[in-house]
Amino acid sequence: MIRELTCIVCPKGCALRVELEGKDVKSVTGHTCPRGQKYAEDECTHPMRTVTSTVRTSTGEVVAVKTATAIPKEKMVACMEAINRAVAQVPVTIGDVVIENVADTGVAVVAAANLEI
Ligand code: SF4
Repeated sequence: MIRELTCIVCPKGCALRVELEGKDVKSVTGHTCPRGQKYAEDECTHPMRTVTSTVRTSTGEVVAVKTATAIPKEKMVACMEAINRAVAQVPVTIGDVVIENVADTGVAVVAAANLEI
């Protein structure tokens, strides 16, 4: 099976072609640097995503949040459900942990903006 991807690691956006045998990556072509090969292999075997969203705060406003690192793609829905239930306490500073270990990923959801009282 052949899978075609666009590398999203840098703005160049190389067109990648991945040859798969079952779940095994047999070859990657189209990349112009090693990061593209790693992206293609990861995307076909264990895709990861950084989640960005907003969370309600104790004052009723919302503040931008994101996962501290990428999480498994299949955990994104559970992550968004946790974010929708969460309430951040104001004041909020960039980097504050809003949710620890979101969706049992071992990754925190952190504030991506400041919000003063
Ligand atoms: S393969 Fe390398 S150069 Fe091409 S988009 Fe990916 S990171 Fe950028």
